[in-house]
Amino acid sequence: MPLPAESISSTGAVPDLTIQRVRHPLRFRLLEVCRVDRLTPHLLRVTLQGDALDGFVSTGFDDHVKVFFPDPVTGELLAPALGDDGPIWPEGKRPVMRDYTPGQFDPVNLTLQIDFALHQPGGPATCWAEQAQVGQRLGIAGPKGSFMVPTGFNWHLLVGDDTGLPAIARRLAELPAGARAEVLMEVDSHADHIPLPSLADVNVVWVHREQHQSLLDALAQMRMPSGHFFSWIACESAQAKAMHAFLINECRANPKWVRASGYWRKGSMASYESFDR
Ligand SMILES: Cc1cc2nc3c(=O)[nH]c(=O)nc-3n(C[C@H](O)[C@H](O)[C@H](O)COP(=O)(O)OP(=O)(O)OC[C@H]3O[C@@H](n4cnc5c(N)ncnc54)[C@H](O)[C@@H]3O)c2cc1C
Repeated sequence: MPLPAESISSTGAVPDLTIQRVRHPLRFRLLEVCRVDRLTPHLLRVTLQGDALDGFVSTGFDDHVKVFFPDPVTGELLAPALGDDGPIWPEGKRPVMRDYTPGQFDPVNLTLQIDFALHQPGGPATCWAEQAQVGQRLGIAGPKGSFMVPTGFNWHLLVGDDTGLPAIARRLAELPAGARAEVLMEVDSHADHIPLPSLADVNVVWVHREQHQSLLDALAQMRMPSGHFFSWIACESAQAKAMHAFLINECRANPKWVRASGYWRKGSMASYESFDR
């Protein structure tokens, strides 16, 4: 299919829209909490620090790190050895692990921000975040790899709930001037809005659970701009699946350019599901 006229830059060059996968060496890092900030009633930013962050690399906005939590009773934090087949745990015991998006990394001060969505009733990760204090320790591993999504699409569709918010904020921060993004963000209420700085031309529609609004309804009501677009979705598993199907079946979106992930599943403990691979 030929690219529409608006995909072609003023120099006549057609942008390369190939998505690349980059791999990174896997390392386990033991870090210390150096700052805790409550951003909204349901979003907590934890800043981690440590020499172990030397060499940390995260090049994709939707990268994830595995976060390892201490035992809530003993406070013990197990560290794995890394073998050829992945992590090896002392005496076969495993700590609680959950996936989180690495936020801003400062390579000079060796700090890394992670934003925790606080849900009720919380699982172990949320309970840890609720009590997080400076000086406590956390482990992280990864990211193992990054998807490098080109920015040269005519426009970008970014859809998520509180758990997708950190990756969406990262994407908006990296989109260049001249890019266009339509964002659907599900949060509890107006009190959970945060600024989403970007050089791009961004339109954010906030969807409020408090008012029983849903991401799928907001997507169905959206006026789609013309041209090639990349869709990125991360939220509750059934919702992500439904929106993936809607984009492919109703909007004729190019399946190559739809990435939809279940970042959590209603009623069950963490597992990562992706509906585009
Ligand atoms: C690739 C990836 C990146 C992610 N990045 C982030 C991130 O940056 N920030 C972030 O906050 N989360 C992120 N998540 C989601 C996070 O890993 C899950 O929400 C995780 O389940 C939280 O762990 P928990 O121990 O609190 O709850 P769990 O023990 O996993 O689950 C306990 C109960 O809580 C429910 N539950 C889990 N999450 C939610 C939720 N958000 N809202 C309502 N109910 C929920 C479950 O259905 C279950 O019934 C990411 C997930 C993936 C796969």
